[in-house]
Amino acid sequence: AKGDGRNTYRFFDDAMDVEAVEHQFIRNGLRRALERNEFVLHYQPQIDLASGAITGVEALIRWNHPELGMVPPARFIPVAEESGLIVPIGDWVLHEACRQAVAWQNAGLPELCMAVNLSAVQFKRGSVEQSVIHALQETRLTPALLELELTESILIQNVEGVLDSVKRLKLLGVKLSIDDFGTGYSSLSYLKRFDIDKLKIDQSFVRDLGSDPDDAAIVRAIIQLARSLNLRTIAEGVETADMLRQLGAFGCDEAQGYYFARPMSADAVASYIRQA
Ligand code: C2E
Ligand code: CA
Ligand code: CA
Ligand code: CA
Repeated sequence: AKGDGRNTYRFFDDAMDVEAVEHQFIRNGLRRALERNEFVLHYQPQIDLASGAITGVEALIRWNHPELGMVPPARFIPVAEESGLIVPIGDWVLHEACRQAVAWQNAGLPELCMAVNLSAVQFKRGSVEQSVIHALQETRLTPALLELELTESILIQNVEGVLDSVKRLKLLGVKLSIDDFGTGYSSLSYLKRFDIDKLKIDQSFVRDLGSDPDDAAIVRAIIQLARSLNLRTIAEGVETADMLRQLGAFGCDEAQGYYFARPMSADAVASYIRQA
């Protein structure tokens, strides 16, 4: 048994080395990825439940790595945040998403809202406001068609200026949503301070909607809260018709998830929307 214990210990030790090596590998690769154009955005449709229409898409980054293949954001966004590289990467995302939205308009697609994820590090170490202004100016996207997804961690930061930059972003005419709503902090006071448009109900509550009465109660409470504050709601991670039915019954405004579509390349989204 003693020997087993030692083996287990060594196993974890090695596993940690592997992780550290991968981390280093990712970090070095990230530095070159922008220059080499290795990032791509995929887009996932968002559906209005009342009309059934596709009202927007969320832009989700992937890294098309020459050796690793398509790397999901969970594997490199944390490294990019730690190293500060999320600032130039985030600028690229904003620009590329806005450019794509305008390209779809020019190709005759119906008007779509483009949702873009922002990291707390972009607020701490970058000038999000300048980045958004540049992206809008360079692409000429109508500001009201850009939606910025903020996490609760951004809004509860005590960093001087977050409230100011969010206010100024709002003055540009862009929309704001709170991502992963309900998973972050119990204080809801930021809902009063920030002029938010939409709450994105986290998929962890949506997943067991049908089987877990607690999750159902939370989702219903979030939708009621949103309604009384005049905010729209969108449920994430909608995978089944049952989830959709229940969300509809609770009065949720929009849904996003594999039930409708996975995140897809720009071309695939365009055909999906044309067929809808
Ligand atoms: P998120 O913003 O919460 O994005 C939703 C995630 O759920 C996406 O994973 C999406 O592919 C996945 N998803 C969508 N529908 C379903 C469903 O029905 N079932 C399940 N199980 N999953 C679903 P993805 O693309 O791997 O992104 C993961 C996270 O990486 C995002 O979570 C976001 O926090 C971050 N991320 C992605 N793109 C960016 C970006 O451009 N900038 C920043 N800062 N973060 C990003
Ligand atoms: Ca998001
Ligand atoms: Ca989310
Ligand atoms: Ca998430």
